[in-house]
Amino acid sequence: MSDDSEFNALHGARLDTLAVRAGIARTAEGEHAEPLFLTSSYVFDSAADAAARFAGTAPGNVYSRYTNPTVRAFEQRLAALEGGEAAVATASGMAAILSTCMALLKSGDHVVCSRDVFGTTVSLFTRYLDKFGVAVTFVPLLDLDQWRAAIRPDTAMLFVETPSNPLCEVADLAGLSQLARDSASLLVVDNCFCTPALQTPLALGADIVVHSATKYLDGQGRCVGGAVVGSRALMEEVMVFLRTCGPTMSAFNAWVFLKGLETLRLRMDAHSQSALELARWLRTQPAIEQVYYAGLEDHPGHALARRQQRAYGGVLSFRVRGGREQAWQVIDATRIMSLTANLGDAKTTIVHPATTTHGRLSAAERERAGITENLIRVAVGLEHVADLQDDLQRGLAALA
Ligand SMILES: *Cc1c(COP(=O)(O)O)cnc(C)c1O
Repeated sequence: MSDDSEFNALHGARLDTLAVRAGIARTAEGEHAEPLFLTSSYVFDSAADAAARFAGTAPGNVYSRYTNPTVRAFEQRLAALEGGEAAVATASGMAAILSTCMALLKSGDHVVCSRDVFGTTVSLFTRYLDKFGVAVTFVPLLDLDQWRAAIRPDTAMLFVETPSNPLCEVADLAGLSQLARDSASLLVVDNCFCTPALQTPLALGADIVVHSATKYLDGQGRCVGGAVVGSRALMEEVMVFLRTCGPTMSAFNAWVFLKGLETLRLRMDAHSQSALELARWLRTQPAIEQVYYAGLEDHPGHALARRQQRAYGGVLSFRVRGGREQAWQVIDATRIMSLTANLGDAKTTIVHPATTTHGRLSAAERERAGITENLIRVAVGLEHVADLQDDLQRGLAALA
């Protein structure tokens, strides 16, 4: 259990301190590192204690689908970083989004969602929530007028992911928060790409943040997990869904993510700095038609990103001159970057969105989303930026 005096000393502490210190679950053994509680159930002090814990009138754990001290430590640390009252850890990022929707929506509700969200999020809304009577309208990320026009009397949730993948468009979170307040709906923000190290949506008026912890919160590509952050009242609802339906985070994964958070800001700063350098260099290359990164001064989302983010993150994309053949040539000629669709790893990844992450979209949908055949996405890792530049140079040289 966390020592109250240590916890109180953290009141008002800065993000770097919270990332290392919040959510300490130290036991009587006095261990310095966070303990890993690999246990499915817990022993009670007496029959009366068992009854009280089951009734919820006494503190303490009952079963790890309900609570686990390592998972709780991760939840407390992430909540502190996001500036939320509470967090709930889930088995994956999709479990975080599903749990939020199942807990807070009901049949007959309507959701307005930005068009460029993670592909599986679109499938969750259209294949499953739709089946249970929750309707969704997709709108362009940037157009607040279209968001406003899409809101109906039965709209209960606005769902947005910013910056967008892979073109790094930036949504106005304060503006969307106002729309949510005006329509008495909840604003849910997928904060996977920025993480609380770069962007804290709750401070801009959002009600809920969802995460795929699989990406930058882990940061080293080891575990799948997710989380939901928000007010204590809303998180209580999400927690009841989780306890009942079961997509909880394992203690081991929580321990990995807990340690991942300690280095989150340092990593995000390094990802952002290298991505900016690469974006600037790519722009000088004759074989490149266009570079998309909100850190570039002439990116349409630059001014807004500067206001609402602390840096611009690790993901960038660019169009090579030509089409699919040229994009594939560049990708296949790189030797350091991993050809994988994942992101948020210490290892840089490179991918051709049109035939992988966005391959299930129709040609018209891809066209509308700007996912052309000559587009390449790079999620910049923690290698030396000069080596990454050499690698892309190798890729571009294949075109000559
Ligand atoms: C990966 C991802 C998800 C889904 O997370 P999983 O952990 O893979 O379930 C959701 N949103 C975004 C933005 C993602 O990148």
